Amino acid sequence: MFRGFSTATMRPYDGILRASSLIAVVSCLVLYGCEADTQSPAAAAPAPKVILIIGDGMDDHQITIARNYLVGYNGRLRLDDMPERSSVQVQTVAEDDPAVPVYVADSANSATAMSAGIVTSTGRIATTAKTDRDVTTIMELAIAAGFGTGIVTTSSVTDATPASFIAHVSERLCEAPTRMVRTNERIPSFSTDCSADFKTRGGRGSIAEQIAASQLDVVLGGGAQYFAEVAENETATTVREIAASNGYRVIGTEHELASLPPGGKVLGLFARGTMPVQWRGAGDAAAALVARQDDGRPQLPEPFMCEPNPAFAGTPRLSEMARAALQRLDDGRSFMLMIESASIDKQSHLRRPCGHIGELAQLDETLGLVLDYAREHPETLVLVTADHGQAATLVPQTSVLAPLKAASAGYFARLRTREGAVMGVNYATNDSLLQEDHTGVQVPLFASGLDTRDLPAMVPQTDIFRISAEHLRLIE
Ligand SMILES: [Zn+2]
Repeated sequence: MFRGFSTATMRPYDGILRASSLIAVVSCLVLYGCEADTQSPAAAAPAPKVILIIGDGMDDHQITIARNYLVGYNGRLRLDDMPERSSVQVQTVAEDDPAVPVYVADSANSATAMSAGIVTSTGRIATTAKTDRDVTTIMELAIAAGFGTGIVTTSSVTDATPASFIAHVSERLCEAPTRMVRTNERIPSFSTDCSADFKTRGGRGSIAEQIAASQLDVVLGGGAQYFAEVAENETATTVREIAASNGYRVIGTEHELASLPPGGKVLGLFARGTMPVQWRGAGDAAAALVARQDDGRPQLPEPFMCEPNPAFAGTPRLSEMARAALQRLDDGRSFMLMIESASIDKQSHLRRPCGHIGELAQLDETLGLVLDYAREHPETLVLVTADHGQAATLVPQTSVLAPLKAASAGYFARLRTREGAVMGVNYATNDSLLQEDHTGVQVPLFASGLDTRDLPAMVPQTDIFRISAEHLRLIE
């Protein structure tokens, strides 16, 4: 439920933010909504823009593994040529006692740090820990200021990262009307209770309903299943139909994306859930537990290379979605665009190295497109970062210290690289048969277009919000 700004987690600039968002709304009226004073210097200056690219789970292990495979260990990704580089301290607090830190994040609380500038607890979508207050996001500030806004992701658009930029709900799994209150006996942490967020109880409804009701200009990704549901308190009207009545052109194919007519809001839903990834291991290979020979020595798995994932056919590339978003938002106004490569994380959870390498390649390809745009629009700030660390670790193929006896703990893959070597990747955050966990490592931040400040060597994750909002002059 919307209860204004948090006081429990308020940061020094929150007061400035409230005042300046009003200033931004007023200046919007002056600059864009009314007959603009075209003689004023402010009106003549190019409108600042921010493109925030998030590699979900894209820590330095992920980047190094991808670099070695994609361009060789002497090679350079586009990321590597970004002019500024910093590190981000990922911050999470306990739900029961927000004064207590939690050292490993999830995508909901870490995206909320970046979207709204507050530290909250895992699973929360732009709401405060314990007190469950909605916190205004940078997209909402940008909308209020009359700026363009866009969200592009390879995940469901209702997933934690994109959701945290526009929706407010106490639990990330409340993606659609039927998912607001559910019991999962097999995995209790996947149970949800967002009953306080029902519209009939004064809340904003599920994440899909909040996106459908939003004023975002561009929303592109997966998650069609959540919009196919009947909306809360309706007998037959789906969330998708509500989006359409709110002015969204709803599309679902690569062809529709490529042939979008200009103007108007667009909601692109290109998969039922998460969009397919572009690569998989040859023959669908993934990491495996290391077997032991009769004499106890480790039996290393066969090395493999990556191959195109057949399920990716017909799926829009992340760069194609980003291009469509930029074309739509490039109307002379300021804009805030968030682009996420989501399955770096999801494929690492599943111990599939080719999956996360391919999705990091999608991010790097998209960064090339974004930097081309920024070269033509030098007022554009480009930030690339991750939300949290992931399980994949670059390790020796065989133990250097005990080569005949020791094997990688957990799941292990050997990737044959294009430069004729073999790279060991292991996943050992837990002993689950299903999925790995995140890690609590600091994550990288790359920047281009920060012309008025130096980037410190380390920033808290909430500074992603502050840096973006300051560039757009939404805060001072
Ligand atoms: Zn994850």
